[in-house]
Amino acid sequence: MRLVLVGPPGAGKGTQATRLAERLEVPHISTGDLFRANLTEGAETAIGLEAKRYMDAGDLVPDEVTVAMVRERLTHEDAIKGFILDGFPRTLSQAGSLEQLLDERGEVLDAVVEFQVPEDVLVARLLGRGRNDDTEEVIRRRQEVYRDETAPLLEHYREQLVSIDAVGTVEEITDRVADALRTRTR
Ligand code: AMP
Repeated sequence: MRLVLVGPPGAGKGTQATRLAERLEVPHISTGDLFRANLTEGAETAIGLEAKRYMDAGDLVPDEVTVAMVRERLTHEDAIKGFILDGFPRTLSQAGSLEQLLDERGEVLDAVVEFQVPEDVLVARLLGRGRNDDTEEVIRRRQEVYRDETAPLLEHYREQLVSIDAVGTVEEITDRVADALRTRTR
């Protein structure tokens, strides 16, 4: 199963990606987590340091850096039988790079899952999470970037798109996604 999860910051993609990865037995690949891993104290890498200023501002890390990191991650053995991409692609240009990358591997995406959550619910959730980049100003900026840069992907992926109402308990939402995928890929 090759999946992409799309949704605004705070929609619960990360939580659901972890649970779905377990059910589907494919790796959960989060570009945000990869960047943060490159910023681990005492083990900072060039990628992490380059990414940090963008992350701190709520802006997107340049496509070149992001795509190279994903390309490398997808060569790991666990990603051969599938993957769940969480937070990538986030721009039309990244979607084009992903298509090219999959093309080279003779692979296609099985589905793109959209997490739908009203904006007031998102902001409340993010303020409760308390991550470094979860100040109100940065949260607002990330929502704006989602609307401008990432939302156009929904139209781009309309043929593979599975939209989920992502308000509910963690368990409910996992079941909704799993049911929708079963219906779709049957
Ligand atoms: P996330 O954990 O998905 O909320 O990502 C945290 C931050 O990492 C984002 O606000 C961006 O600065 C950066 N980031 C994550 N994924 C991407 C991506 N696909 N393209 C560019 N920047 C990204």
